[in-house]
Parts: sequence; structure tokens; C-alpha cells
Amino acid sequence: MATNESAEAAKVQEKQTNCLACNKPLKKIKQYYRNQKYYCSKKCWKKSLKPKEEQQ
Ligand SMILES: [Zn+2]
Repeated sequence: MATNESAEAAKVQEKQTNCLACNKPLKKIKQYYRNQKYYCSKKCWKKSLKPKEEQQ
């Protein structure tokens, strides 16, 4: 008889592993946690807050 192991695995939520701003993979040391989301740096966090104002 088959068990539903795959169904249980699907319940596990995926961790956020990439920066929301630049989509780079987050590393343990280099990550910036803000508003329940992870960024690779403070710079990226600011970038995600107001991306239109960051033009130079
Ligand atoms: Zn980033």
C-alpha cells in the first residue's frame, strides 16, 4: 500500500532563499531581515521600498 508522503512534503512551506530586491540567493551571513522578508543587504531593502527613487 502506498503512503502519502509526498502530500506531507507539500505542506512544508518553502523558505525564502532569494533576495526580494535583486533575487540573488541569500547566504547565512549576508542577509537583512526586514518586515518579515529577507534581503541580501540593507541596500536591497531600501531598493525594494522605493525602487523608483533609486534612479541615478
Ligand atoms: Zn539583494
